[in-house]
Amino acid sequence: MRRNVQNQLFFVTILFFILGIFHISLAVFGLICFILPFYQYFRYKDKLWCKYYCPRAGIFTVIFGKIGLRKKLPNWIKNGKGKEIVLYYFGVNLLFATMSTIMVSLGRIDPIDHVRFLMLFEIPIVLPQILTYSAPSPAIHLGYRVYSMMLTSTIIGSVLAFFYLPRTWCMICPIQTLTTKKI
Ligand code: SF4
Repeated sequence: MRRNVQNQLFFVTILFFILGIFHISLAVFGLICFILPFYQYFRYKDKLWCKYYCPRAGIFTVIFGKIGLRKKLPNWIKNGKGKEIVLYYFGVNLLFATMSTIMVSLGRIDPIDHVRFLMLFEIPIVLPQILTYSAPSPAIHLGYRVYSMMLTSTIIGSVLAFFYLPRTWCMICPIQTLTTKKI
């Protein structure tokens, strides 16, 4: 019998954002949160990540378990439209991140040097970068891309959690969608 440690792991989400402040290349570790759910799903034929381990679900539950408006879920979430939109957005985002990282590796484009919201909008916050070691440009670029993806979904997930239920994001999360047989 597996133990549900999701809520105890909420600090991993915070740690991820702090690591990006130390050095953005460390944000590449965030890819673990994309790879592990699929590994577990294909290995054990079960959504173990979503059920027991996901630190993001943990932080939504811990913070918004006691606060929030608990409004009725909107139709775009209930009828699957939101799920579809987020899935397409995730696919395009992943494609862009991969292609642009390859282009940076080939020296065709410069790495990005800022965090973005929804892929396109620059967030007017400069990450301090406490560690000053120099990392390869593709690691910097991918780090900003992963950090942007995580920050965007955490912001959107938090807004949804505040208005509706703590884990409303899970209803449209692409990982949930892709590890569920029927969309
Ligand atoms: S649906 Fe997404 S946010 Fe929710 S538990 Fe699964 S991976 Fe985490």
